[in-house]
Amino acid sequence: MAEEHRITLTFDDADEYRPEPPPAPEIPAWKDGSIRIGIHTSIAGDISGSLEIAHGLGANALQIFSASPRMWGKGNTSRIAEADAARFRDRRKELSLGPLVIHGNYLINLASPNPVLRTRSVQAFHQEVVRALALGADYLVIHPGSGREGDRNSAVSAIVQSLRQALRGLKLGDLKILLENTAGQGTSLCWQFEEMKAILEGCRDLAIGVCIDTAHVFAAGHDIRTAEGLESALRLIDSTIGLDRVFVLHVNDSKTALGSRVDRHEHIGKGKIGADAFGRILNHSLLAGRAFILETPIDKPGDDRRNVAALWKLVGRVVKATGTRDGMKPRRKKLKQAVQKGSKGRKVVKAAAKRHRSARRK
Ligand SMILES: [Zn+2]
Ligand SMILES: [Zn+2]
Repeated sequence: MAEEHRITLTFDDADEYRPEPPPAPEIPAWKDGSIRIGIHTSIAGDISGSLEIAHGLGANALQIFSASPRMWGKGNTSRIAEADAARFRDRRKELSLGPLVIHGNYLINLASPNPVLRTRSVQAFHQEVVRALALGADYLVIHPGSGREGDRNSAVSAIVQSLRQALRGLKLGDLKILLENTAGQGTSLCWQFEEMKAILEGCRDLAIGVCIDTAHVFAAGHDIRTAEGLESALRLIDSTIGLDRVFVLHVNDSKTALGSRVDRHEHIGKGKIGADAFGRILNHSLLAGRAFILETPIDKPGDDRRNVAALWKLVGRVVKATGTRDGMKPRRKKLKQAVQKGSKGRKVVKAAAKRHRSARRK
């Protein structure tokens, strides 16, 4: 017994404490300078499934919700189990997908004049950041919120304060929080870039940037259909928030007219903005290096595949989708219509789901 004890205490060179040199920062494969085209995909059933869907659609980047987007998380249930998060991070690395953008819950309103809703929003946003960190996300996009009619200044300062509270005690590392411009519906803030500027100025010490949604820019009154209109919008963005703070673009065509202040997304090239305009946006030198993420509707099976392919075509590349699944489930109403008609579309959905299930078993 004593003999054994002595052996374990024998000094081993390797046991000597040496301060480890800091590991060389690992540059993720997706940061190779290539153009990044992504799409919002579903996490229903299995969070890692969203990666397979995005990859199968021909995208090399993606956006997800990290929990149900229209429900308040209940305490710990909104956390992601570490094993699931690890599997997600590993698979994402294997597929070289990036950036990973997480879209925040729609119920969060960091500017809410109602103190209960505002506290709940701050807590929910804090959890969003915790989940984004667990998944190794690059960006967390949040709609700034909406305040009381005619009181923009206090709404802006409420957002700044809420962001500070929500981020307190968290180390963001490489994660950036991105405020998204809005179409200007109701009392929603940040359809004007000056408002975003005011928020960003209040958060200079925080890792906060901007996500620009093309459909929202258009609905807010900037005519990005023409080359001159795009130039003037970019000049305005640069002179207010600064283009260097824009990391992601949501590329959506618009169902609604210029200046309508109504937010309705449409397929690329099928809306009021048009394919030519998206060609100029995707290839604009001032927007090089940004991720272009689709949030287009799914009206019939294959819409996501077609929208991803449309973007690749605009940058002069042919990318073939290997999967057949759309990024999200089509709206229930549409699905019901398809069932009633017993249409081909329904069969396609079923076949795709079956293939997806069998692929996941492997
Ligand atoms: Zn958007
Ligand atoms: Zn929108």
